[in-house]
Amino acid sequence: MHDATRVIRAGIPEPSQGHPFLPGPTFAAPFHVAGDPAEAPYTYGRFHNPTWTLFEKALGELEGGEAVVFASGMAATAAVLGSVLKPGDVAVLPADAYYTTRVLAEGFFARAGVVVRTAPTAGDAQRECLEGARLLWLESPSNPGLDVCNIAALARAAHERGAVVVVDNTTATVLGQRPLSLGADFSLASDTKALTGHGDLILGHVAVRDAERAQSLRTWRTQFGAVPGPMEVWLAHRSLGTLDVRLERMTANALAVARFLAGRAEVRRVRYPGLPSDPAYAVAAGQMSRFGPVVSFELGSAEAAETFLGGCRLIVQATSFGGLHTTAERRARWGGDKVPPGFIRLSAGCEHAEDLVGDIEAALSASDRPL
Ligand code: PLP
Repeated sequence: MHDATRVIRAGIPEPSQGHPFLPGPTFAAPFHVAGDPAEAPYTYGRFHNPTWTLFEKALGELEGGEAVVFASGMAATAAVLGSVLKPGDVAVLPADAYYTTRVLAEGFFARAGVVVRTAPTAGDAQRECLEGARLLWLESPSNPGLDVCNIAALARAAHERGAVVVVDNTTATVLGQRPLSLGADFSLASDTKALTGHGDLILGHVAVRDAERAQSLRTWRTQFGAVPGPMEVWLAHRSLGTLDVRLERMTANALAVARFLAGRAEVRRVRYPGLPSDPAYAVAAGQMSRFGPVVSFELGSAEAAETFLGGCRLIVQATSFGGLHTTAERRARWGGDKVPPGFIRLSAGCEHAEDLVGDIEAALSASDRPL
């Protein structure tokens, strides 16, 4: 079956006379339970919820494993690091990973006795840090630099040394890249981004092939209370049905934008893994079925970047990525990422490509435009 079909059916119960395709969200703290709780399918809303069950079934089908949903991408990240690592363990992270992932590892987990090593995503440089490691964390394509590593090759190298492999698959989503098939032990994503894609909720998940690992993630979620609300999970499941359609448009738009930017003299270092001239293209093409919505590029200075962003009429200034609406931001305004002041991360949405390119073209000559 094709992705476009699978994603529409994923996690949807068998049709039942007079019932909706996707049952509505179940709002419950306690469920009615008399007698032995082990005999009740649901008991208390921090342990389990029927709305989570359907969404996790959907994600499990798409990932090729068992999925556990969390309150956010960071809740999922903390659950993986926290359920795998103990004091004295070595964790190898990308030096260019999502900022808060690095802060969590190098702050909280390092203070708790975990030894954190970092190396860049590009060139599979993390391979050099694997001796004695317990966990290898990959993020490919990386956010915001859009470098790519060879997931299968790094997973083999890590497994040979006894380390488990986690892939943060947020930028690609499960329809763009399947980490578990590439050899990862954990496939993690912030579903706040393209997986749900409407910019209206915060959510995350982890998928694993091993039932014991799934159980320890659930135990973590229950004990730390990293639980998503049923409304968010229901919205996510509803949004999942259009993932293939959205990704098709967003990916085509991202490529159109990247191609246009690459042809402009005032724009430097356009990065998009789907651009055949990109340094990441060869590896990306070998492991991704879609290259995702995120493009990055540089203008000459912070002022040039701010003028450009201020000149956009259609493209909205906002952080995050993967939504229907095309957004962009000057990443260095936050601090924390090693990017030049004029570095812009743009997330292509689902608008018409000609309108987006037109907006960018006009904004690049924003100084000539009346405000
Ligand atoms: N991983 C990546 C690659 C991200 O970009 C983000 C958020 O930007 C996260 C994880 C964290 O996700 P959330 O904001 O849903 O907690």
